[in-house]
Amino acid sequence: MQEPTIQNLIDKSITKKTAKKSKELGYVLFEGQSQLNGDNIVAILVMNSTNEKTGNMAQLFIMNKDISPLEASRTKKDSAVCGDCKLRQSLGGSCYVSIFQSVQSVWNTYKRGRYSNLEIKDYGVLANRYIRFGSYGDPGALPIEILVKLKAVSINNTSYTHQWKKFPEMKSFSMASVDNKKEAVEAVKMGFRYFRVALPTDTLMKNEILCPNTTVGKSCLECGLCNGNKIKAKNIVIVIHGALKGRFKDETIKEVVETEIV
Ligand code: SF4
Repeated sequence: MQEPTIQNLIDKSITKKTAKKSKELGYVLFEGQSQLNGDNIVAILVMNSTNEKTGNMAQLFIMNKDISPLEASRTKKDSAVCGDCKLRQSLGGSCYVSIFQSVQSVWNTYKRGRYSNLEIKDYGVLANRYIRFGSYGDPGALPIEILVKLKAVSINNTSYTHQWKKFPEMKSFSMASVDNKKEAVEAVKMGFRYFRVALPTDTLMKNEILCPNTTVGKSCLECGLCNGNKIKAKNIVIVIHGALKGRFKDETIKEVVETEIV
């Protein structure tokens, strides 16, 4: 029989570590004012996930507190958790999140009182987990102490923010979400690594790779590259996806953009 490679062994150990599901459904990490517009928001960390792309990472949902995610999107009050992101469905954008499914379901479960509160001093219970910041909502809506502590206790995290111009301090644990090459260049100048959504007709710059989920089928849990600027890794590009991908536009695609970024 062929000997397993080192990578086989690493993958196997990751699978083992995370196959054990948390008994806890999830935790309320924050109830209070959005850092983006002051409206009431709530952050729930759902402990288990069947999302094949991410693997079984704990997933953070950041939602309006007093109105449901569907209502918030319909009335454009989702700016409390999405800020000025132009991909918001409420603005006719291409955001891939199925608000009416998982997000609405987490909010309903929260309203039924099924999640217990977890104080920042007790985050040690999350120590053996990989955490995805922002299954829905921008982590920039939360007080930064929560994010820094989550980063500190987790095995690894992924994080994406469209609010990178407002919150440069997020660069140590979060990717800047960018929607074209011009924004990508700007994000690098500010010290961020970035995650760029692109049309299939676009090209890669020299400092970019395609998301390994799309090229070799790795889950985010196995890959872990979207965790900010503390690692020496290239920026990530993913082809626009999801049911609303046809809405995505990149007006800058024909412009020549500086490609020699170090
Ligand atoms: S680069 Fe890695 S961590 Fe980032 S989205 Fe792709 S698979 Fe997930």
